[in-house]
Amino acid sequence: MSFSSLGFSPAQLPAFLRALAEKGYLAPTAIQSAAIPAILQGCDVVGSAQTGSGKTVAFALPLLQQLAEAPLHSPGRVRGLILVPTRELAMQVGEAIVSLARYLPRRMRVAVVFGGVSINPQMMALRGGADIIVATPGRLLDLINHNALSLASVSTLVLDEADRLLDLGFGEELDRILRQIPAQRQNLFFSATFPPAIEALAATLLHQSVRIEVRATAQTGSDIRQRAIEVDAGRRTQLLCHLVRSEGWSRVLVFVATRHAAEIVADKLRKAGIAAEPFHSELSQGKRTQVLLDFRQKVLQMVVATDVAARGIDIAKMPVVVNYDLPRSTVDYTHRIGRTGRAGESGMAVSFVSARTAAHLRLIEKRQRMGVPREQVAGFEPARGGESSTGAAAPTGGIKSKRPSRKDKLREAAARLQVPQPKE
Ligand code: AMP
Repeated sequence: MSFSSLGFSPAQLPAFLRALAEKGYLAPTAIQSAAIPAILQGCDVVGSAQTGSGKTVAFALPLLQQLAEAPLHSPGRVRGLILVPTRELAMQVGEAIVSLARYLPRRMRVAVVFGGVSINPQMMALRGGADIIVATPGRLLDLINHNALSLASVSTLVLDEADRLLDLGFGEELDRILRQIPAQRQNLFFSATFPPAIEALAATLLHQSVRIEVRATAQTGSDIRQRAIEVDAGRRTQLLCHLVRSEGWSRVLVFVATRHAAEIVADKLRKAGIAAEPFHSELSQGKRTQVLLDFRQKVLQMVVATDVAARGIDIAKMPVVVNYDLPRSTVDYTHRIGRTGRAGESGMAVSFVSARTAAHLRLIEKRQRMGVPREQVAGFEPARGGESSTGAAAPTGGIKSKRPSRKDKLREAAARLQVPQPKE
């Protein structure tokens, strides 16, 4: 399959092929081969595909073609609206669209808007209008309230990572936005997972849609090796440093349960001589952008992130993802490991598992219908009988707490009651 055979019009195809070649995309991925012809024919599309499968190109190219060929092209009127859950994804999608549109005969104005930064520069940028807006829902509504833009001309709506949009509580904002865009439009709906809330949203939004399912690992050719290493919670940082050195991991994205843990683990890694930074929602937007830039440019070897980073970060050739703390849900597990093995590359996802988190990992395996073999690393074998009762890990392997829990106190009391064993 080649990009030339997907149904692009001869007027736009050369510009697309040139932009794709510059990016090094020689052939379409599975989601692109399946979705592009359907979108070009004007169908509503529900794509079940993870980030990393190439879905941005799958919706961006047909959208660009439609806008480039619209007979009544009225520059500055928003025709394509792409809603995304996070700022990082907004920036990434915006950049991808600009680079794909670079050689089109007609200039496309692409605006990227998201919260967490001052609204004024975004209002100024919108004064000249925009053909395509990539937005997080809250900021989009703020801009509409400031009369900075109107959605009355939108002809294509893309919901990117729809499951995450709902997870992050954007349901109400989404309803308000949907009420402002014309009912007559094309809907493109991408989600890695389809829990009932997402199915319900798809059912209300879409009519006679084409459903495309791409199993990221199998069909995009990406190859993610999943490992689970048994280790006591208190030795995870040491084990991480050991693995980085013994297995020669060049860049690692480490997931932890809390912002606090991200700070602490990154700090410990730095003390061990590894260039590491935390990445979480409490950092300023400037800092987050800088961390991602440094990670991309290999200034940083490790980023220690909360689940905010599980979506949207696109760093080509991310070889290793580590679940330092296990994710809360199976959905988060899927998204986290989706950060590696991107678009046909191979990757590795390593989960640290302790006596206390073993059952949680089993549950994730059961829900994922897969089994990850357990392994131990010499010198880091878990202590027999589980971890010590103080400094216990949270259920997801979270950071240590100094205060013993109620269970810990009961265990200690039980131990005190035990009859001493006679000496041999
Ligand atoms: P996504 O986040 O699903 O859009 O996936 C994006 C990742 O896939 C990025 O790393 C892109 O550079 C890469 N990608 C997208 N399309 C292709 C393609 N046809 N060939 C190779 N890589 C691609």
